[in-house]
Amino acid sequence: MSLICTGTIGIDTVHTPHGSRERVLGGSCTYFAAAASFYGPVRIVAAAGGDLPPEFLGTLRGFRGVDTTGLEVRKASKTFAWGGRYHDNMNSRDTLFTELGVLEEAPPPIPAAYADSEFVFLANTHPGVQLGMLEALPRRRLTVADTMDLWINIARADLDRLLSRVDGLVLNYDEAELLTGRANTVAAARHILTLGPKFVVVKKGEHGCLLAHREGLAALPAYPSENVVDPTGAGDTFAGGMMGSLAAAMGDVSLPSLRRALAHGTVVASFNIESFSLERLARLTRPELDARYAEYVGMVRV
Ligand code: AMP
Repeated sequence: MSLICTGTIGIDTVHTPHGSRERVLGGSCTYFAAAASFYGPVRIVAAAGGDLPPEFLGTLRGFRGVDTTGLEVRKASKTFAWGGRYHDNMNSRDTLFTELGVLEEAPPPIPAAYADSEFVFLANTHPGVQLGMLEALPRRRLTVADTMDLWINIARADLDRLLSRVDGLVLNYDEAELLTGRANTVAAARHILTLGPKFVVVKKGEHGCLLAHREGLAALPAYPSENVVDPTGAGDTFAGGMMGSLAAAMGDVSLPSLRRALAHGTVVASFNIESFSLERLARLTRPELDARYAEYVGMVRV
């Protein structure tokens, strides 16, 4: 099993009703890899600048199974930085700033040792970079991408090309609406299936997720959490659990395998939101994860 992810390493500033954190470790690739590492090894391809605090690297490497060979630190550049403020219900947020930094430069190369990667997750970053990564991985068996409003708005042509080449797409319900012009989530997801992917996962925050698949639909609730401190990274950790599970299943994207993968994603994301940055995942244990998975599966069984 060889899972690889490209995306951002970020320095985040986050405000939630529970407090604020300035310049903490974040980024789509970071959250994804941390979550996926609970299911098996994960390789990352990302760039950071000389301003990346050394302890951030230590945190990332502290997740057993995260291979950082493909993380390029460019001394003279700035790390991607993002700021967000959550509304009182924690379901929606405003982006306060996005400083692209290294994302405006050439994408990081894929190390030769990663060329045999089979399971590919293109976490949120410029779709042009996502396409380049996909093309550089000839052994890929399963490719899933994430995207967001920024790229739908400013890089639509690249995104359309990407959609025609991936097996799966993961995105938020409002992004699905922006992409398709359809406000109904089911209609939006079905529309996206006509753009290329074999399956689409639409995330709906505390309302769970919808899976549209060529074999049918599935809907899973979120894990009912009372302790939501910082939802940042919920989507990326969801994707990490999902892809970790799919890679462990050797890329089986049948409806039952995807349902299990979504359940894993849901559960690992439910831990992530219990504290800021990667704090909760850094102390998450396998028994805690297994216990909550069993509890969740029991809850959703009808
Ligand atoms: P999520 O809450 O799952 O959407 O992920 C939030 C993370 O994505 C934060 O840690 C940010 O650093 C990162 N992020 C925010 N905006 C972007 C963007 N436009 N492209 C890539 N990563 C982003």
